[in-house]
Amino acid sequence: MDAQISRDWVEKQIRDFIAASPENTMQDQTGEPAWDDALVGVASGDDPIWQQYKEYVGAFHWTPWEVFNQHCPGVPVTAAALSVIAWVLPQRRRIREANRNALTFPAEEWARTRVYGEAFNAALRLHMVDQLEQQGHAAVAPMLVPNWTIVKSERFSYASPWSERHAAHAAGLGTFGLCDGLITARGKAMRVGSVVAKVSIAPTPRPYSDHRAYCLYFADGTCGKCIDRCPAQAITVAGHDKEKCRQHLGRSREHVKKTYRFEGYGCGLCQVGVPCEAGIPVRAAREALERGELPPPPPPLA
Ligand code: SF4
Ligand code: SF4
Repeated sequence: MDAQISRDWVEKQIRDFIAASPENTMQDQTGEPAWDDALVGVASGDDPIWQQYKEYVGAFHWTPWEVFNQHCPGVPVTAAALSVIAWVLPQRRRIREANRNALTFPAEEWARTRVYGEAFNAALRLHMVDQLEQQGHAAVAPMLVPNWTIVKSERFSYASPWSERHAAHAAGLGTFGLCDGLITARGKAMRVGSVVAKVSIAPTPRPYSDHRAYCLYFADGTCGKCIDRCPAQAITVAGHDKEKCRQHLGRSREHVKKTYRFEGYGCGLCQVGVPCEAGIPVRAAREALERGELPPPPPPLA
């Protein structure tokens, strides 16, 4: 079996599933899909960034090799033989527009993509594992393994042993904003997913050397619009207070159930009505990306 596959093959599997899966649904009267497109990136299993995450996020954050070894113990592998496939599902315009009007709790459309769109994202992870295994490549979806859990973190209040946003950052798909969200070429209003597979795929070059390069606040000290958008005062110039955010998400459950009549939750107010909603707001970074320019090798994460 060929140990290599192309990024084009990976992208096709993801796009075909988005187009054809009946699970891609808002579960409402419109019959509209939750998602209509994806950005896809790949990182190598032996990229030094995985060790940097251990230092920055915490020792509990898995490397691709660690999570693969735990869940495919009969498949001997080196870190270099693994690839991490990550994708971004950009929120559709109508969903973003609906949530721009929200002031405290999410619009119904946003809450539906948070719940049913994320259910599709989980199905996409399983689909990609299945497709890779059909090609002879053992694979695992770190977010779906039984020992994925929330971990208490001194630095971040809470964290997890696998962060989809960090996987997407490693795979060249975006950088972090003041609010902690990942700003991608299609903006910050999106959801992310990933799988780890024993297969060689050419990694996507990371078009940034700074892990905050796409956020206006870190680029030139302006913006801060996400601070004003947050109904829970969870964002300040010091960053994102995860505990305040978590508590607000909890409060949103009651609103969603009472107002929209389904079991759901969400917020995402900081992801819309801001300059990074649907693109990269830092002009120089956006134009460099459009020209296909790559920066010098990145320094270690601060
Ligand atoms: S709204 Fe502005 S400050 Fe907040 S993450 Fe986006 S670009 Fe950065
Ligand atoms: S930080 Fe949390 S509570 Fe605040 S707007 Fe963003 S998702 Fe909502």
